[in-house]
Amino acid sequence: MNKKNQKQDMNIMKLMEKYHSDDSCRQVLVELRWPDGVICPRCESKDIRNSYTRDQYDCGSCGYQFSVTAGTIFHDSHLPLTKWFVAVYLMCESKKGISANQMKRTLSVSYKTAWYLCHRIRNAMSEGVPNLLKGIVEVDETYVGGKTKGMGHGYKGNKTIVVGAIERGGEARLHVIDDNGRKTLHQFIRENTRPETEAIYTDDWPAYRGIGDADTRHETVNHSAEEWVRGNVHTNSVEGVWSLLKRSIVGSYHKLSTKHLEAYLDELEWRFNNRENPYLFRDTLFKLINADNLPYDRLTAK
Ligand SMILES: [Zn+2]
Repeated sequence: MNKKNQKQDMNIMKLMEKYHSDDSCRQVLVELRWPDGVICPRCESKDIRNSYTRDQYDCGSCGYQFSVTAGTIFHDSHLPLTKWFVAVYLMCESKKGISANQMKRTLSVSYKTAWYLCHRIRNAMSEGVPNLLKGIVEVDETYVGGKTKGMGHGYKGNKTIVVGAIERGGEARLHVIDDNGRKTLHQFIRENTRPETEAIYTDDWPAYRGIGDADTRHETVNHSAEEWVRGNVHTNSVEGVWSLLKRSIVGSYHKLSTKHLEAYLDELEWRFNNRENPYLFRDTLFKLINADNLPYDRLTAK
């Protein structure tokens, strides 16, 4: 299916029209959680009655009373669903991501609430087992994080290394790595691409040498000799993602810690991989319904 020219299914006007009330938010969650009719979360019975209180269901089998948010990430939050929906929309919509401070102002909540909310949505975005990349795959590394005084621009000791792979016209995989040596880079590529991948394009960093084999070409552009594109061989797609990452770090996440960097990468990956998906908003809500809760203690543990 060609999704390229499809418009986003959601925009801010639609969001305000459709999801301005708790009821309308609940309705879409019911449709996403139970597409074939309400099921008891405790005993999986389909013998369900609507309770006298609206939004509550009674299980005819085990007697459990529940709402659509029971057992989901939305449940143990005092935040109204309408605010959750705005937050999800903003995180889907903003190419560079949205800072906790911006979220705080937009939703009129405390900084702590906004920060935790962003992290829970981000965590839901990161779940799932990704497919291996195939076809033509670009791989590159970049450095993010602090500058050290007195050290030149090229000093990398204080920075975190991020490696990325992108299938041409397809998805991206981004990870924090400890070093940019041969073993680490080769392992990352093996774990994220199919064995029969047609080609891997990198720059001329020696650690990539030997990544090709009988059914996978390895081609390089010689960045150190100012060669950026040779025919079809380049790493421009992955460098485009680095530029998004760097603008988001500079623009939105001023105090991005290494500890949370992997989560930010997952968020960027989710948005990038759904860049042509008109149902990104709905699909993100669906992920939230099925996501593990992310306890505040675990998030803030050292
Ligand atoms: Zn039941």
